[in-house]
Amino acid sequence: MVYNFNPGPAVVPAAALREAAANLVDFRGQGMSIVEMSHRGQVYEEIHQQAIDRCLRLYGLGPEFTVLLLQGGASLQFAMVPMNLLRPGQSADYISTGHWSQKAVEEVGLVGRTCRLAGSSEAADFSYIPAQAELDLDAQAAYLHLTTNNTIYGTQFQALPRSGGVPIVADMSSDLLSRPLPWDGIGLAYGGAQKNAGIAGLTVVIARREWLDRASVEGVPTVMRYATHTKSNSLYNTPPVFAIYLFGLVLQWIEAEGGLAGIDARNQHKAGLVYAAIDASAGFYRGHARPDSRSLMNLTFKLPDAALDARFCSQAEKAGLIGLKGHRSVGGVRASLYNALDPAGCQALAEFMRDFARQHA
Ligand SMILES: *Cc1c(COP(=O)(O)O)cnc(C)c1O
Repeated sequence: MVYNFNPGPAVVPAAALREAAANLVDFRGQGMSIVEMSHRGQVYEEIHQQAIDRCLRLYGLGPEFTVLLLQGGASLQFAMVPMNLLRPGQSADYISTGHWSQKAVEEVGLVGRTCRLAGSSEAADFSYIPAQAELDLDAQAAYLHLTTNNTIYGTQFQALPRSGGVPIVADMSSDLLSRPLPWDGIGLAYGGAQKNAGIAGLTVVIARREWLDRASVEGVPTVMRYATHTKSNSLYNTPPVFAIYLFGLVLQWIEAEGGLAGIDARNQHKAGLVYAAIDASAGFYRGHARPDSRSLMNLTFKLPDAALDARFCSQAEKAGLIGLKGHRSVGGVRASLYNALDPAGCQALAEFMRDFARQHA
């Protein structure tokens, strides 16, 4: 028995894995696996549609929104967003709160479009989320792009900024389906399933239909047009059927946990256990994120020196606490507490932290 704190791919609800395993060889008595069936057959199409409907229902979204089940990861969305939603001559605003935000900005230039920085916490080593008053927003921007949760630095938007009617485009890779969201300002949100919602291979895009329909597709390859996927209900080409099946199982698990409100309460409780251990350590553990910007998903902290960081991670691993090494660009420790991580894992980590500090302070 281990607790999996990996940043992604990451822990998946055991109930979903067990159900998938039980159905892998003979899917619900069909005599073949889900991965052997036609993606145009009735059995698969039902799984596909149920995943889309469940995702909309969990977020409380009506028919003005659509869910696309794509591939290529958030990394492809960095390019697809400006290719489809930013016309030559227009500009988009980007808030830079870390490595992934910067990657998104880079792709805008690579596809020949223009954007400007509306805010950045780079000068403070991405340790916080810029406040509304720090943002320099362009009222004419085609959209405002932001990263809701910064996986590497451990910061998270506690609330979305007010964008004055400019649609928000959100990279939600590492906090997808982890909390209820106000969607009135959001035009499009995207994220890979492998952190909070299943396994690698599936990219979930949730967007306002009407906005996608108005998008310009001139010069955009067919498979990279949102319009291609809205028209075909994400069945233009072969979808990642197994990842979508698992996504559906994870959505069912979230429903059983009380929906996004239930998951949010559970996530707040979990993160609270670990932050309490940081805050009670009299400075032995130093959090990277400013307290007002702390993430509920990725908790980053350092010990008094790099040798202790390494010792902490290797001893934790021996105690069954896996995947705690910080990202190479930040160092230290990172505990990823995605939806599926059991609260008992956070309890175990907090206890381990208290014991370790007592022995090494
Ligand atoms: C992991 C991650 C990405 C990259 O996702 P891929 O699916 O590997 O392309 C982008 N943004 C954020 C915030 C992430 O956490």
